[in-house]
Amino acid sequence: MAADGSPGPGRLGTASPPPRAVLLDALGTLVGLVDPWAALARELAARGAPVGEADARRALLAEMAYYRAHHDDAVDAASLEALRDRCAEVLRRALPEPAASLSPAAARAALLAALRFRAFADVPPALDALRAAGVRLVVVSNWDVSLHDVLRDTGLAGRVDAVLTSAEERVAKPAPEIFARALERVGGIPAHRALHVGDSIATDVAGASAAGIPAVLIDRDGPDRGHDGLPAGVPVIRSLSEVLPCGLPTF
Ligand SMILES: [Mg+2]
Repeated sequence: MAADGSPGPGRLGTASPPPRAVLLDALGTLVGLVDPWAALARELAARGAPVGEADARRALLAEMAYYRAHHDDAVDAASLEALRDRCAEVLRRALPEPAASLSPAAARAALLAALRFRAFADVPPALDALRAAGVRLVVVSNWDVSLHDVLRDTGLAGRVDAVLTSAEERVAKPAPEIFARALERVGGIPAHRALHVGDSIATDVAGASAAGIPAVLIDRDGPDRGHDGLPAGVPVIRSLSEVLPCGLPTF
């Protein structure tokens, strides 16, 4: 029970049977960006257009907002290239001089070089242990088609059974349909025998719950801080390693 008397977060139980499938969000759950503001400032400076890190951050946040609104346009290699061109232009226009006068090609190169993903350290061993226990693993992510490359480059692609991106599926979390498709992709495992882990209450917890799949919130910054809007009974974990020894959540 929480301090305010509410039921508080749920717990991952040990008495219930283990999940047969674990669905996994990508950004913030499996992978994170490596210090993108400093990386962008560095990449711009290397192209003769130094800007402060605060300006780099402001411009990159504008680019990220544009990307989030349009990433489902990138369903194949050609549309991914077009999206990247548009994102780079949003970035360039949000940067101060001299970076604003970079060529579109140079701005794009700086952007792509600055966006480097890494797998969180707990992820590879947790995925391997879950798989060794017979659990099917499916990534369910609001991302463009390039997520496959990111998972390959971070060493995760071979550790999961399937990857669903909102761009390719043409449906995004929190729509229950993408979660249902994920379960179909691993042989039609019933929703109540699966678990979804993600770092967003609005897309991961709400979407999985709407699909009948027990959800777990992962908060790598500290599971004990408040989580506005988190439904009572949803467990909060700090590391993916907490999923392994557990059964389905008990509420
Ligand atoms: Mg996420």
